[in-house]
Amino acid sequence: MSDPDVSVSPVKAEAWYSYGIDKTLHRLTTAPHRGLAEKTVMERRRTYGLNEITTIAGRNNWQILLDQFTNVMLLMLIGVAIISGALDLISLRLGEETMEGFPFKDTIAIFAIVILNGLLGYFQESRAEKALAALKKMASPKVQVLRDGDRQEIKAASLVPGDIILLEAGSQLCADGQLIEAANLLIRESALTGEAQPVEKNASNTGLPLDTPLGDRQNMVFSGTEVVQGRGKVVITNTGMATELGKIAEMLQRVAPEPTPLQKRMENLAGVLVSGSLLLVTLVIILGVWQSGWGELRQLVETSLSMAVAVVPEGLPAVITVTLALGTQRMIKRHALIRKLPAVETLGSVNVICSDKTGTLTQNKMVVREVLTHGDRLSIGGEGYQPQGNIIHLSDGEQRATSGPWPPALQLLCLNAILCNDSELNYNPGEMEWQVIGDPTEGALLVLAKKFGFDQAQLRPSFMRRGEFPFSSERKRMGVIVEVPAEGESPLANLLGILENLALTPGPYLIFSKGSPELLLPHCGQIHTADHCVPLNFQHQEQILSDNNLMASRGLRVLGFACKSLAQIPSTPDLIAAEDNLVWLGMVGMLDAPRPEVRLAVEKSLAAGIRTVMITGDHPLTALAIAKDLGINQAGDRFLTGQTLEQLQQSDLEAQVEEVSVFARVSPEHKLRIVKAFQARNRFVAMTGDGVNDAPALKQADIGIAMGITGTDVSKEASDMVLLDDNFATIVAAAEEGRVVYNNIRNFIKYILGSNVGEVITIASAPLLGLSAVPLTPLQILWMNLVTDGLPALALAMEPGEPNIMKRRPFSPQESIFSRGLGAYIIRIGLVFAVVTITLMVWAYHSADLAGAPDSWKTMVFTTLCIAQMGHAIAVRSNHRLTIEMNPLTNPYLWGAVIVTTILQLCLVYFEPLRNFFGTDWLSPQQLLVCFGFSSLMFVWVELEKLLARFIK
Ligand code: ATP
Repeated sequence: MSDPDVSVSPVKAEAWYSYGIDKTLHRLTTAPHRGLAEKTVMERRRTYGLNEITTIAGRNNWQILLDQFTNVMLLMLIGVAIISGALDLISLRLGEETMEGFPFKDTIAIFAIVILNGLLGYFQESRAEKALAALKKMASPKVQVLRDGDRQEIKAASLVPGDIILLEAGSQLCADGQLIEAANLLIRESALTGEAQPVEKNASNTGLPLDTPLGDRQNMVFSGTEVVQGRGKVVITNTGMATELGKIAEMLQRVAPEPTPLQKRMENLAGVLVSGSLLLVTLVIILGVWQSGWGELRQLVETSLSMAVAVVPEGLPAVITVTLALGTQRMIKRHALIRKLPAVETLGSVNVICSDKTGTLTQNKMVVREVLTHGDRLSIGGEGYQPQGNIIHLSDGEQRATSGPWPPALQLLCLNAILCNDSELNYNPGEMEWQVIGDPTEGALLVLAKKFGFDQAQLRPSFMRRGEFPFSSERKRMGVIVEVPAEGESPLANLLGILENLALTPGPYLIFSKGSPELLLPHCGQIHTADHCVPLNFQHQEQILSDNNLMASRGLRVLGFACKSLAQIPSTPDLIAAEDNLVWLGMVGMLDAPRPEVRLAVEKSLAAGIRTVMITGDHPLTALAIAKDLGINQAGDRFLTGQTLEQLQQSDLEAQVEEVSVFARVSPEHKLRIVKAFQARNRFVAMTGDGVNDAPALKQADIGIAMGITGTDVSKEASDMVLLDDNFATIVAAAEEGRVVYNNIRNFIKYILGSNVGEVITIASAPLLGLSAVPLTPLQILWMNLVTDGLPALALAMEPGEPNIMKRRPFSPQESIFSRGLGAYIIRIGLVFAVVTITLMVWAYHSADLAGAPDSWKTMVFTTLCIAQMGHAIAVRSNHRLTIEMNPLTNPYLWGAVIVTTILQLCLVYFEPLRNFFGTDWLSPQQLLVCFGFSSLMFVWVELEKLLARFIK
């Protein structure tokens, strides 16, 4: 083989599929067993760049900016600016003085605010797009690569031509490559060819004809496709834009991020508010003209313009975007990566969590505790993956330490554990510990074999693998065919003797199978006894199944082992038959301790009205033992197995599903039925999954959750959220954050819309009460809606959440955001606002002359509305707790926002240039005191409401 360190000339567009694999490996100067050297990788990265598709663009900056101005609320503001400008123009023509000194001030100011708001929206959205892109990057696939002879996991972006990668079911391909090896490899290429059915792939020594179309290139795998089944080894031929996907990248327009349900509802709300305000404007003008004739038209138009501006919550869309973005950041701190933005707000509505067992509820750190063959029961000591531990013989009621020699059946079981196994056990001198690369269940078997003195590194090279039946969650077992080494070459001196002893006619090949005992046993026709094989009879089977149940009910994960010799490697149609009439060797029971934090998380979710349901491929008794331990299975709960489920009609499943807390021995397709059954009962379901076949269930679930560590790329792609630590407790934490986000959104909607209603009523009342002018100009209203409402609203989005947030039932996702009293609150508080301000307005209007500034009443109304909102912001933080009952330091941003906003408002009154610009008047200390006095009533009112609610309850 060529030296992998030799640098390669840039790969031109070559027809790799037409080459035999050896030629490809030669041209790419790489070695299939070692991969590239790091030095070569660096050189090639300089030549080919990162393995990324660079032209799939989202919205570009101009599009994001333009989108800001298509917002219906901004369009209305632009309309207001134009009408206001027209009014000023008429005044100028008539030689009148415009209202506040110099012409077109409102128009200019409104345009400035429109532009500012647009820019703000632009910065927030482009930041959100960047944040989403960063999240996407974090969720970007990893690949198993061979470099310098070591198997490593790297980011797909680091691949270079010549890299050797390993594929397994669920892998997503991120570069193009040619197959070196393939075992039952099925790949779904729909992203590239549109063909939904997975296609079979094979390594080829000769290459394919040059005119082979893309869809028929069986010896190649392509970026953007996914492995549905089997295993494979691939040499990377093209990366990044040179891949087939890269070539059509321009055609793949990335779909713009979906607005969340709440954002959609807010868009609708904006529409309603805008049309409502137009209606109001028309009404005020018609009524006004009818009451006082055309002479008052000018003032009526001004009143209407102010009302139109007042009714629209200009600051709201920005605050919602920021809140959702903050939510994703808080969730990531708790190890939940949000892939689809709607999940942030809908997580709070989850009321059923369907969780996998292994790795999510348990630690996925397996240790074999017991080995059971026909003649021996052994207890295995030791911790973790450290391959040391005492072996105690438990048979015949006595216990004695033992160290071999091991009976033949045990030796074969250990050989099976090593050879029917795709994982590796290595000592990492840097971290001074033993590590498993691959499946922890298989890792535990390698540790077990090593405790018996069988070493993977020594045995695997002698037994060449000639065929395999990969593990799948449906079959729940795995098999391999290996070549028996010739006598004298075997590292097991007495191997042939053992095979003879077991009456396994020593054929040139052996088949080893391991998997779920109940499913493996029907494929066995013999059982070994102390030193030979006998036909497997009914008693044997009963004994094995009862031992299996006994181990499982202690929470152990049980695996059975079997083997037989083969005279020849079976042809493809015979592969299934090859797995029949096996010789039963024994069983092992391994412990996978529950994660310690899960018990508390289950308890917490129960209190929050969220049910936890375990869905596992494992034995029902193992599952039940762990579910009981964790508090998932409670008195009166039932369990269902995949077998029973298969016989149930969907309607029967729907009738029973609420009583079941454990589904055991299920296959991925059952998960889909379970989700649908819960949804038919109006449940809002979060479902975890890691395998490629879990994808449909993850898509169907209201929140599909993939595993960050053990999850396949396909499952991640289908999910709404990825658990970075694979931990169940993280789901509960994310649900809690979801509730906090939703609560905060409700709080600031209450806060913003309440004040808008108050403003509108106050403005509308002025002409009705016979006051000579409109109390607030459009400019002042914009100031209130954007600055004095906007800043505290942003701070309310940072509220950490009420202590009882996980002690109440979840909100239904169908429920309107205005339900549970929110709509009523907005109207009620709006009225209180209006009553307070109108009382002040009437009083100030009649006493203003005394202060020598005839228009100061308007500034008092303006100031009171602003300051009253500060009190409202402080009080609205909690629905139940009084302000004095809350720790003021939990949300320092709010206090900051209140102080800054108050100072800004005072600047508008006491800083002359601003006073001139905003058209305010200087207020005497007495007047200011009156404003503060009236404003505080708002705070007092909201606090009194909370007190009253306690008595009513
Ligand atoms: P969960 O869905 O909770 O993660 P699980 O990991 O126990 O469940 P599977 O991985 O589908 O579910 O395993 C189901 C059964 O298949 C196990 O109980 C075991 O008997 C068998 N099994 C698991 N891993 C292997 C393996 N690598 N080789 C052979 N059999 C296996």
